[in-house]
Amino acid sequence: MPKLAGFDMDGTLIQGRLVFALADRFDLSDKVRAIQQSEGMLGHEQTKAIAALFAGLTKKDLLDAIESIPLTKNCERTVAALRERGYYKIGIISDSYTVAASAVADRLQLDFVSANELQMENGKITGKVKMPLGWEKIGCFCKISVCKRYHLEKAARQFGVPIQATLAVGDTKSDICMIRRAGVGVVFMPKDSEIAKAADKIVQESDLLKVLEFAA
Ligand SMILES: [Zn+2]
Repeated sequence: MPKLAGFDMDGTLIQGRLVFALADRFDLSDKVRAIQQSEGMLGHEQTKAIAALFAGLTKKDLLDAIESIPLTKNCERTVAALRERGYYKIGIISDSYTVAASAVADRLQLDFVSANELQMENGKITGKVKMPLGWEKIGCFCKISVCKRYHLEKAARQFGVPIQATLAVGDTKSDICMIRRAGVGVVFMPKDSEIAKAADKIVQESDLLKVLEFAA
């Protein structure tokens, strides 16, 4: 049976978070944190507000920031091992930005990317963002900019893989809906208490190869 794997990017495939790396470079960290901690804002509203902070930065600024973050230990080996086990489609499902996620996907020779698209004009970020959403179509609780469950289901459908034959890996509460829906859902180095409670398959060591213990 053909299989498919969907990986979160920040904190899962890479050892950091793009938004923080970018914010650090341009002295926007406090502003990003304030938005992320604002209780009254839904996830997708936060994504919109954070994208607006980056207005005026260039595609190169984004690519420099993503390149500054190392891949997680054994990232390439994990992808190769999954291919050997029949995962013929492997991709990134991220609430980060397509420019960055595509750069990581190219490096790892992955097959698909779902992420937020920053609008660019004359090579600069305008501050507007096109969010793929998806939760409104399937009634998902997450209400974030990229409903990972919706995009896992969409990729599985697109590539003709039954949902039971999917693997999803992530590290924060934004990954919960995808991890619960996947045939095999693995929490990798959990960063908050909600995700730690969301699945029984947990990797507590910063080595992506450990995920293979759960992926048949
Ligand atoms: Zn969702």
